[in-house]
Amino acid sequence: MNKDTLELSKEEKLWFHIDGAYGGAAILDKKGKELLKGISKADSITVDPHKWFFQPYEMGCLLIRNHKHLKSTFVEKPEYLRDIEGNESEINFYDHGVQLTRRFRALKFYMSLKTFGLKAFRNAISYNIALAEKTERLLRKSSKWEIVSPATLAIINFRYNPIGNKLSEKELDALNQKISESVLASKEAFLVTTVLNGQVVLRMCLINPRTSFQDVKNTIALCEQFA
Ligand SMILES: *Cc1c(COP(=O)(O)O)cnc(C)c1O
Repeated sequence: MNKDTLELSKEEKLWFHIDGAYGGAAILDKKGKELLKGISKADSITVDPHKWFFQPYEMGCLLIRNHKHLKSTFVEKPEYLRDIEGNESEINFYDHGVQLTRRFRALKFYMSLKTFGLKAFRNAISYNIALAEKTERLLRKSSKWEIVSPATLAIINFRYNPIGNKLSEKELDALNQKISESVLASKEAFLVTTVLNGQVVLRMCLINPRTSFQDVKNTIALCEQFA
């Protein structure tokens, strides 16, 4: 985390929010924890257990440092609710957000943790991070692939750009776009693109703990075949 961001928000009395919707889960991994150092200083953090905590949709969460801010923002005392107001010791989640009637979303996550244990989550996340790093090493060994951004939090961005080719940037963009389209059409893997530094790149997001290194190798071989 950028130290200046924290200092600036303090100086200017700004709310300091960190969007860890995707990446927050990495805190369970040793390397991930190091990467996320400082996250605890935020006023609030988004984390989506329906992403890297493997929960069914949907379960977006907001963690907040000082829970009194939720109450001071959201508590309403409309007349029609005055007779069912609880006592002070009760937590009424409608005091914590805009929703009055809400589902018991936390149950599924709680049940998963109780059933599989935190260690199973930690192992899965560490496996994903290591798999992306292994994929990076595989791609680096090849003269056909260029790493555009190294494996971080189980995501790696790369493009097909064989050493010595005479393709223009525009042609490389079109080629990599086409590789992604062909992989999707084959239904063998889900490999989409993004744009980084103006370049179309393939973005491999490896957060399924059932994805094996062999799956990755097969996908890359498929990409090369389409290329
Ligand atoms: C997925 C994602 C969101 C959107 O969250 P949803 O709860 O899935 O709508 C926001 N920010 C980041 C960084 C994300 O990865």
